[in-house]
Amino acid sequence: MNSLATLSYMKPRSLDEALDALRSVAGGDEGYYEESGDHGTLKEADSGPSLEAKAGSGRVKVFIHAGGTDLLVKMRQVPRTFSAVHAWSKGDKDSCERIAVIDISGLRDLRGIRIRDGKIIIGALTTHAEIESSEIVRRHAPVLAAAASEIGSPQIRNRGTIGGNVCNASPAADLLPALVVYDAMLRLVRSTGSGVIEERVVPLDGFVRAPFTTVISPGEILTSVEVPVRGAFLGLYHAATLGITVAKSRFDDMDTNPAATGEPFWLAGYGKLGRRNALSISIASVALLLRIVPIAGRTYATGTPVPVGATGGPNRFRIDEARISIGAVTPRPIRFSKTEEILSGLVFGFDEDGQLDQAEVSGRIVVASRAAVDEMISMSGIRQSTPYKSVAVRGLFEQVLIGTLRLAANSWRK
Ligand SMILES: Cc1cc2nc3c(=O)[nH]c(=O)nc-3n(C[C@H](O)[C@H](O)[C@H](O)COP(=O)(O)OP(=O)(O)OC[C@H]3O[C@@H](n4cnc5c(N)ncnc54)[C@H](O)[C@@H]3O)c2cc1C
Repeated sequence: MNSLATLSYMKPRSLDEALDALRSVAGGDEGYYEESGDHGTLKEADSGPSLEAKAGSGRVKVFIHAGGTDLLVKMRQVPRTFSAVHAWSKGDKDSCERIAVIDISGLRDLRGIRIRDGKIIIGALTTHAEIESSEIVRRHAPVLAAAASEIGSPQIRNRGTIGGNVCNASPAADLLPALVVYDAMLRLVRSTGSGVIEERVVPLDGFVRAPFTTVISPGEILTSVEVPVRGAFLGLYHAATLGITVAKSRFDDMDTNPAATGEPFWLAGYGKLGRRNALSISIASVALLLRIVPIAGRTYATGTPVPVGATGGPNRFRIDEARISIGAVTPRPIRFSKTEEILSGLVFGFDEDGQLDQAEVSGRIVVASRAAVDEMISMSGIRQSTPYKSVAVRGLFEQVLIGTLRLAANSWRK
């Protein structure tokens, strides 16, 4: 016999209530499981529609609803009719008797951005629009702000959350490469019953196991994403190739001139390649952080070496550390460590007009972009899209890298 799956909806007013609901209704597993006996009822919410879940037996699929922009698409893929006996006997994973939605979108404690103990703490329900416009994120994690600004449309950016982007774990999720280069950590909580809340912090690197699959355990809710604050950021190169290429650079108003003092500083680069200018998911995206050390300048035409701190500043720099992730081309977000190694130690310079001496670095840049393609293939294997993606990754990577290196010229132009 076929019948419609029951839909139950709950909008908890606190994190405790949400965790209890997850625990009691579904054993916390956002997936399929066999329910038996009484599981009580979902509490009705004060606000929002509320379809009470009936106690009983059967298979239930539990969904956490944050902004709902991925979830509503996902829910449409769950057949609303089922035949339990038939489904079980056939091992059909795509049917269930109950759908329970736990809507956490009203939990204000899971929203907002602040700095604490050297980390930017971003609540899981913080929207892309909030991240894009946050002064804290723009200053200390500019690649993340740039990635958030490229997501979907204004409507999607105002509803979609960082927690949803991370937990949905799509290979094309734009925040994942940006978070992985910053060594982001994820704070997860779950109720163990009797009011006891268990908390763990896991690195984003390793959180996503495979496309749309994470290590999140039954009953867990992501409460915040934590991004360590690094040293001074001098600027961001930001390129979006969505139909047409738009490249823009932003410089931070730093208190000191790093090139003049010889202090290391960070440069950031972000590029997204999509098919069109709006509502375009990534074909590839590049997140890049470079720690730059100013080194003594080369000799100008006068024959005098330009020392660090001299008027006009050094015109030579060294990449001390490179952090690279390329999104939408691997099943899960990874750092491109071999490419990072190739770039570490690269010395680059500018001529007296402040132009990057490209001839000096182009060989190493080509080696690095080829390595990036090799790393992509070693993670993803050869696929139908590989020939196109190889060219796309090389082109986007080289564009972002060169655009970012050029920013160093700005370090002595205070
Ligand atoms: C038209 C359109 C365009 C889009 N464009 C882009 C794009 O350009 N780039 C991009 O990256 N994405 C894009 N997306 C996807 C989506 O908007 C983002 O991934 C968004 O960040 C998802 O957040 P959400 O709050 O809506 O998540 P939801 O849909 O509410 O949830 C997504 C998943 O994460 C789980 N989840 C959510 N929050 C938590 C939590 N705190 N703890 C545990 N589990 C949780 C949910 O159970 C669900 O499985 C687009 C979507 C649409 C519909």
